[in-house]
Amino acid sequence: MNVLVVNCGSSSLKFQLINSETEAVAAKGLCERIGIDGRLVYQPAGGEKEVTEAAMPTHTEAIKMVLDALVNPSTGVLKSLDEVEAIGHRVLHGGAKISDSCIINDEVISVIEECCDLGPLHNPANLMGIRACMDLMPGKPNVAVFDTAFHQTMPEKAYMYAIPYEYYDKYKVRKYGFHGTSHRFVSKETIKFLGLDPENSKVIVAHLGNGSSISAVVNGKCVDTSMGLTPLEGLVMGTRSGDLDPAVLDFVCKKENIDVTEMVNILNKKSGLLGLSKGLSSDFRDLSEAADNGNADAQRAIDCLCYRIIKYIGSYAAAMNGVDAIAFTGGIGENASLVRETVVNGLSYLGVTLDEEANKTRGENKVISTPDSKVTVAIVPTNEELAICQETAALVQK
Ligand code: AMP
Repeated sequence: MNVLVVNCGSSSLKFQLINSETEAVAAKGLCERIGIDGRLVYQPAGGEKEVTEAAMPTHTEAIKMVLDALVNPSTGVLKSLDEVEAIGHRVLHGGAKISDSCIINDEVISVIEECCDLGPLHNPANLMGIRACMDLMPGKPNVAVFDTAFHQTMPEKAYMYAIPYEYYDKYKVRKYGFHGTSHRFVSKETIKFLGLDPENSKVIVAHLGNGSSISAVVNGKCVDTSMGLTPLEGLVMGTRSGDLDPAVLDFVCKKENIDVTEMVNILNKKSGLLGLSKGLSSDFRDLSEAADNGNADAQRAIDCLCYRIIKYIGSYAAAMNGVDAIAFTGGIGENASLVRETVVNGLSYLGVTLDEEANKTRGENKVISTPDSKVTVAIVPTNEELAICQETAALVQK
């Protein structure tokens, strides 16, 4: 089945056309600067990247340009749009009502609308992408794959914040978790790849990229995760602070004479690796190179990143009362052997030992612990687009 996978941000739209049986990507690309001016980058499999500048006032024009590119007689990969059999949309927030991917109908659209205040940047953009596809390809099934859905199995004790209960009652303030598509895909792959018993397994997935999160997965079901009401909680990320004492907000706001909205923006956009490195970079590769050249600011950022990961893995091993496997994924998790080495060495009390040679691997399924390690550690690359394609095809073929 040919599935068009669509991932809309506030001013961008990424897409891939994937065959769900062969897993082959026929074409991929992105639209940028939607609502500003507009730029389409399109690449057919085995072909050159094409860049087209054209006005894209809304996501509807952007999707229209993508569809035109897919059926373009010279560089397109489809004879007609009839060959697109389903559309899979990445949707950020499904709140507490949605615990799985679903075929989009009026009810699902209302839930995505209701969750706009929980995901103010993404949910409205996701809705625009959905509506555009419905308009331009009427009658085709559209599926929503939610970033929050996989985490809906968390027990109350894991998702509640210890604040007055009325905020949960009135506003549904709680931990939701994100990157769920990746955590679901990687935890499943880890169980399969390592031959674990799906009904008797404890897995920790460390998704480490520009945004990072960790999940604890028992028998294939998420029991805890590091991101919260929003993606700001948890690990040290590229530009997000992750965990901190909430009183820091009031303290800095008063000192700097700024309001809480501005402070939250600083915690989202100017903190994490970027903040810790005194503005040097939010990108791990830049920091790693700088640290190798003796830059203490870069080293501080890397030390804080690794330390927080070690603490979270330890706390999830405790929360699950044991752990069988730890999987590293995401741009940093799949590629940065230094981070994996530092983290694994910090977990020696769990009986984890690193195979240094295997740890040199990048970007493929690989066990990186020694055969006698009490916990198996592996690199398991994520593929969110393929996961969305598979979930879409499974629902449509039901
Ligand atoms: P993601 O958000 O999953 O695309 O991951 C982005 C992060 O992965 C950035 O901090 C990159 O510096 C980091 N990254 C990507 N490739 C590498 C690599 N080869 N070695 C180290 N870090 C990498």
